[in-house]
Parts: sequence; C-alpha cells; structure tokens
Amino acid sequence: QILHELLDLKGNIRVYCRIRPFLKDEECYHQASVVSSDSNKLQLRVGQNRTKEYTFDKVFHPGTSQDEVFEEVEPVIKAALDGYNVCIFAYGQTGTGKTFTMEGRPDCPGVVPRAIKTLFSLASDGNQKIGFYFSMLEVYMGNLRDLLNPQVEKSSNSSAQSLSIQMDPMGGIEIENLVAIPVNDFNQANKLYKYGRRFRSTASTNSNDTSSRSHCLIRISINCIDAPERRRVVNKIWMVDLGGSERLLKTQATGKRLEEGKAINLSLSALGDVISALQEKHPHVPYRNSKLTQLLRDSLGEDSKTLMLVHISPNEADLGETICSLGFATRAK
Ligand code: ADP
Ligand code: MG
Repeated sequence: QILHELLDLKGNIRVYCRIRPFLKDEECYHQASVVSSDSNKLQLRVGQNRTKEYTFDKVFHPGTSQDEVFEEVEPVIKAALDGYNVCIFAYGQTGTGKTFTMEGRPDCPGVVPRAIKTLFSLASDGNQKIGFYFSMLEVYMGNLRDLLNPQVEKSSNSSAQSLSIQMDPMGGIEIENLVAIPVNDFNQANKLYKYGRRFRSTASTNSNDTSSRSHCLIRISINCIDAPERRRVVNKIWMVDLGGSERLLKTQATGKRLEEGKAINLSLSALGDVISALQEKHPHVPYRNSKLTQLLRDSLGEDSKTLMLVHISPNEADLGETICSLGFATRAK
C-alpha cells in the first residue's frame, strides 16, 4: 500500500532510460557517446567539447540487471491489482534492447515473464477471486493483427472477423473479436506468448537483421470479483514492444520497408503527442491519430499508470538516433 501511495505521488507517467552495454561485435572499434550516468541523469557527448544532460525518473546504466529493472516495474504491476490500467512501453532504435528488456532471454527473463509470475503469485496470496486473460496482437502498417488467431488475417474469406476498436459509453475500450484466453498459471501464459511471437511481422533492414517493423502488444486482462459487493472489476496491463524508432534514411529503406517505417514513425509520434498532452494536462488528448493510441485510450491517462522505458545505444556511431530517442523521452516527461 505504501508503495502504491508513493507511486501516486510520483505521478502516473514515468520515463526511464536504459543504456545497453556494448555488444561483442562493437568491441573492436567503438567510442562511447554516454559520458556519465547516475541514478536519474545522463550526460551525452554531442560535440567535441559539448555535452548535454538529460534527466529521467530513473536511468539504468549498462550494467543494470533484469532483476534491478524489474524492481522498478513491479510496483506498477501491483497497481494493476488495485484496479489501475497499466501500460509499459519499450521504446528505442532497433538493436538497443527493447526485446531484451520485455522478453529477455531464458537465462535472464525480462519484464513480461516476470510480470506474469508476479501476478499469479499475488493473486494466489489474496482471497479475492481473480481471473487472468491473455491476448497478444500486433499493430502493423496501421492494422491490427491477432497473434493468437493469425488465420483470421490469412483467410481471404470475407466473412472472417476483423478486429475493430469499440468504445463503450464509459470510455472503456474493447477490441472486438480479439482472442482472450484464460490462463491459470505461468506456463499456460508462456506457451501462448511463444505461440503468438511466431506470427510477428519481421523483416531484414540494413540496421538489424531481424528488426521488427510492427508494435507487439501483450494484454493481460484482470477480472476480479469484489466479494462483499459482488462487483465485477475488469482492468488490464499492456506490455508493448514498440517498433524501432530509427529514422528512415539510415536504413535506406525502399518500397514496402519504407512504408512500414513510415507507419511506425507516425504511430510513435502519435504516442509521444498523447503522452505529452497527458503530462501537460492538456484538455485535448489526441488519441485518435493512430491505431496504437486508439487501442490504449482507456489505459493511458487518469486512473492509469504508464511506464516508458526508453532504450539507447552507448555507441557514438548511433549518436543521431540516441539524441532523437532522448528528445522523445524529454517530451514525454
Ligand atoms: P531491439 O529489440 O531494441 O531491436 P534487442 O533486444 O534485440 O534490441 O537487443 C539487441 C541485442 O543486444 C541482442 O543481442 C540483445 O541480447 C543485446 N542486448 C540488449 N540489451 C542488453 C543488455 N541490457 N544486456 C545484454 N545484452 C543486451
Ligand atoms: Mg526487438
């Protein structure tokens, strides 16, 4: 409870920066662009004798473990069991560690598997009856694809159901026809995750051979019967591995790749606009400008908790993209 109160004091949107370590293939020749970082500031070398300082709610330096990252994420996961809608985003240029943070590796699991474990363990502690439902979808070129029901899209059958976003009179968002499978333990959820990720749109670009040109969203709906009042409470956690934020010139994209890149960039800037409008308590929040923000409308804003994890490369060769990502983060703060 105290944790949750602290969260409230800190506001609903928090922005963290994670600096990836140098990778093996960068080691032979590299120059660091990050001069120094402490727990909430980092300094970037932007010119011969010029540095620029950026402030965050938290900076994860390159040595930060998955455990340490999750320590900061966990309170938000707990808030979901108190009835908040939650969004956790991984933002950044391709190759900066978004998937590493969200999915992780078998030897060092990331936010998604840890969050699921935490939910099950908290739910089994309490005496409320809580049901969890797992969904996974992708926003690709402005379209929604159900990763747990990929046939729908493949079939040319015109009667195939398509996913559409509906808003109820209370402002709640429902995605019509999205598969939501009840899960009772970690292994069930993990199997669904593995099944869903096989159907992601991935393609080669010059910056990374398995770069994702789509946003991948996992939704865990929490369905809770409030025993004394017999009231049904439904809320959700979104965990989002965003498409790469790199600008298009660098990847020398043409044709389809170029179109995919444009779609990603448009939706990322729409997301940035929504977050900064919320931060500034602007009366008009431009949710309608992208499918991504329409989807998340009821989970971004008052009564919800948002965590933006901005990923950057430590390498001077990536400085241009790093400055762009930090610019995005600054606007979101
Ligand atoms: P993205 O999803 O942003 O394109 P990845 O998560 O695929 O980036 O990371 C690119 C590479 O860097 C992967 O080989 C990944 O294992 C490695 N990597 C990223 N972040 C870290 C980290 N914090 N510690 C160790 N390796 C990392
Ligand atoms: Mg990735």
